[in-house]
Amino acid sequence: MTDVLIIGGSDAGISAALRAKELEPTVNVTVVVADSFPNYSICGLQFYLSGEVSDWHYQAHRTVEEITHEGIHCLLDHTAQTINPAQKSVSVVNREGQLKRLT
Ligand SMILES: Cc1cc2nc3c(=O)[nH]c(=O)nc-3n(C[C@H](O)[C@H](O)[C@H](O)COP(=O)(O)OP(=O)(O)OC[C@H]3O[C@@H](n4cnc5c(N)ncnc54)[C@H](O)[C@@H]3O)c2cc1C
Repeated sequence: MTDVLIIGGSDAGISAALRAKELEPTVNVTVVVADSFPNYSICGLQFYLSGEVSDWHYQAHRTVEEITHEGIHCLLDHTAQTINPAQKSVSVVNREGQLKRLT
């Protein structure tokens, strides 16, 4: 089974993850997201600032639960630090400074 690791979980990252699952439902897809808000619509920030949207949380296109329901694993609050193509590994660090190597 193939593993796909995507760094970044805003529009581009989640689109890529959904498309990978669409093309091959058995693929293991993990999205590494530096923040806690995947698929967040930063484009709509002005609607929150203007008051048209009362709660900025509503501006996410999908919730974590909805993304997880698609079979996509979200590794939130983890920042990718290094990519090692030869070893097919990525090192990530969480908010507590703990390092992890994803292979
Ligand atoms: C106010 C505003 C209005 C906009 N309006 C428009 C518009 O009308 N039309 C338009 O086409 N575009 C608009 N844009 C631009 C649009 O938002 C961006 O082009 C789009 O968000 C890019 O999406 P992205 O997924 O590539 O990256 P981003 O939305 O920048 O997301 C980056 C993702 O990567 C994660 N990340 C970054 N570094 C790491 C790392 N080292 N490890 C792990 N995760 C990481 C972040 O946490 C985030 O999840 C607007 C932007 C803003 C700010």
